[in-house]
Amino acid sequence: MFTAFLIKYAEIGIKGRNRYLFEDALIHQIKFALKKCEGRFLIHKTQGRIYVDAETEFDFDEVVEHLQRVFGISGICPVVYVEDEGFEKLCETVIGYLADVYPDRNKTFKVNARRARKNYPKESMEINMDMGEAILNAYPEMKVDVHNPDIMLNIEIREKIYIYSEIIPGPGGMPVGTGGKAMLLLSGGIDSPVAGYMIAKRGVKIDAVYFHAPPYTSERAKQKVVDLARIVSRYTGPIYLHVINFTDIQLYIHEKCPHEELTIIMRRYMMRIAERIAKETECQGLITGESIGQVASQTMHSLIATNEVCELPVYRPLIGFDKQEIVEVSAKIGTYETSILPYEDCCTIFVAKHPVTKPNVNIIRRHEQYLSEKIDELVETALAKDELIIVE
Ligand code: ATP
Ligand code: MG
Repeated sequence: MFTAFLIKYAEIGIKGRNRYLFEDALIHQIKFALKKCEGRFLIHKTQGRIYVDAETEFDFDEVVEHLQRVFGISGICPVVYVEDEGFEKLCETVIGYLADVYPDRNKTFKVNARRARKNYPKESMEINMDMGEAILNAYPEMKVDVHNPDIMLNIEIREKIYIYSEIIPGPGGMPVGTGGKAMLLLSGGIDSPVAGYMIAKRGVKIDAVYFHAPPYTSERAKQKVVDLARIVSRYTGPIYLHVINFTDIQLYIHEKCPHEELTIIMRRYMMRIAERIAKETECQGLITGESIGQVASQTMHSLIATNEVCELPVYRPLIGFDKQEIVEVSAKIGTYETSILPYEDCCTIFVAKHPVTKPNVNIIRRHEQYLSEKIDELVETALAKDELIIVE
């Protein structure tokens, strides 16, 4: 019965003169999300509101599910459009609508009319009163409550008449593309996909980099990262995933540096390379899935060591999250099942038995000097062989 959706947006409504930029970005993201749904849709902006009109048959649940992944949407209202065939006919339609949408009508309601077309013969207040009366006559079990109704029945008089009363919650946040772009260090774990999701929710477009170490990490581990990027892209739009072959760098660090410092030094090189790609692709920051104390390389001391090699800000949206909280978000966004597949994204030979938990940055820097100029060549080679996968 529904033929359209009214899209409600919260925060982007308050952006003053830039409001249209946010609305246009939201429309763009809605179009992207609905491309994967059956049916054809017209998305338009009318008097400061965004509507999705179905131009063909469509699957209601599928469309709602896709809209619920578009950041910037606070609510999705399914709308019935009817032609203006006089007020009496409208009352009949509304009475039928209530019967369809609310099988149990032991509820309070309020009619909230808006006369956007000024030549309609009744004013808004009149519509509220007369329609309220018609509803009470049809359904004596219903009651009016103008302060806190169970059903807020909206009637908008435009060229056509729009009827809606349900609000399905959206994901909130800001439309992707309104907040710049950042480079996500994406591994096959649970945390980094969640970190990317969280920053994207604030309107930031996401690119990603994955450090692959064949044959120590398998093709399936790489495929898992591509799959994770694809799930995240359902929220963010297309992701440019850079796959960097890290094997020679890792082996060389393993050969030259103290093993307790391997992870930290490897992480420093990942950050350096990620930042290089970030700068080349006009990203304004890096994103990682780190959380204080989760592992040795994520203590406050270790974070000093990995942070200091970058100039760009490093965003760590999970920094204060417990693992369980991260797992909950990953289950909610649909990455969990893929993240827990057993293909390791790091080989055990590169993981020390007793990694440092309080690395001293001066010592780390000194030990990195054992790597000499050869490491710079390896970094350049790795960057030159960057494999770009566009995930959407
Ligand atoms: P995750 O679950 O995200 O893999 P983790 O708890 O396993 O995190 P680490 O492996 O120490 O933690 O990695 C910390 C962060 O570094 C990750 O969240 C991710 O952002 C980045 N990272 C780690 N390994 C890689 C990799 N192979 N490629 C890209 N980024 C990586
Ligand atoms: Mg990991």
